[in-house]
Amino acid sequence: MKKALVCGAGGFIGNHLVNALKLKGYWTTGVDLKLPEFSTSCADEFVQGDLTDPILCNEVVGKGFDEVYQLAADMGGAGFIFTGENDAAILHNSASINLNILEACRIHRAGKVFFSSSACIYPDYNQLDPNNPKCSEDSVYPAQPDSEYGWEKLFSERVYLAYKKQYDLQVRIARFHNIFGELGCWEGGREKAPAALCRKVARCQPGDQIEIWGDGLQTRSFLYIGECLEGIFRLMESDFCGPVNIGSEEMVTINELAGRILSIAEKEADLRHLPGPLGVRGRNSDNALIKQTLGWSPNQSLDIGLAKTYHWIADQVKKKDQQ
Ligand code: NAD
Repeated sequence: MKKALVCGAGGFIGNHLVNALKLKGYWTTGVDLKLPEFSTSCADEFVQGDLTDPILCNEVVGKGFDEVYQLAADMGGAGFIFTGENDAAILHNSASINLNILEACRIHRAGKVFFSSSACIYPDYNQLDPNNPKCSEDSVYPAQPDSEYGWEKLFSERVYLAYKKQYDLQVRIARFHNIFGELGCWEGGREKAPAALCRKVARCQPGDQIEIWGDGLQTRSFLYIGECLEGIFRLMESDFCGPVNIGSEEMVTINELAGRILSIAEKEADLRHLPGPLGVRGRNSDNALIKQTLGWSPNQSLDIGLAKTYHWIADQVKKKDQQ
């Protein structure tokens, strides 16, 4: 039986990843500051602890793993990473986790090590035109991410690649583009646009307006969790170390995203645009490299994942509002 360690197993993607690894027959150890919020973990063993502590990382990784998935990060949507208020914590905590995990993987000779990087590493200057953003993997330099969160991911990518080069550690690096789905954070300040809009639409009564940050003409693509997991497994099974985009190429404006959720909910509402933290003007996954290297790319329509996510969040909102 293969053994996998999932760092960040209490978070949205980590929790889904543990479930998927269990279905594949792995023995899994999860580690996180917290347990998953919306389900119990399927991990065979769950260590609740702080991965900024090198002693804990050494202890956990020292149990011996064929595969290590490093997803733990100080993380959130635009309301968390673009305000500037959390920058020092984001840089310090996430970089510490990555340095500690890599060093423990080197010492204990872990098998393959997966690192979840982000589309936030791409330069601001290539994402000014909402209709024509450039996010091919090789466009990352000269570097100019628009957030400290992006700078930390870029720094950590380099550390993973340096460990590969110097210590022959088998690393795999993916740059995720806006992953969404059920069991994700949907309120409280760390939620991302799809979950926040699903919550607003679920609570929307006739005559209400849906609040959108900015003019809503900023573009993004959103990838459903199922296809993200498929991409992670395909990358891990391949000989390609990345970095490679794992994202959807179905680019929409935030206004369109709201419209699609309203139509899934069979509701009508006007949009009200307010000032708020925004991030880059346009972003889309470029899937040329993933197609070339893995012979696969995500292709599910956004509406399929959105419908599942909306119905799950609407259910959560209903339960909460009845309390
Ligand atoms: P998440 O916030 O739900 O999960 C991250 C987990 O890391 C949380 O459960 C958190 O408690 C844990 N964590 C943070 N600091 C820790 C510490 N010191 N010790 C132990 N655990 C700690 O985020 P997610 O959406 O599941 O994202 C997973 C990974 O993918 C992150 O690295 C994130 O940066 C990356 N990513 C996600 C997206 C996305 O759209 N969700 C996009 C790009 C990259």
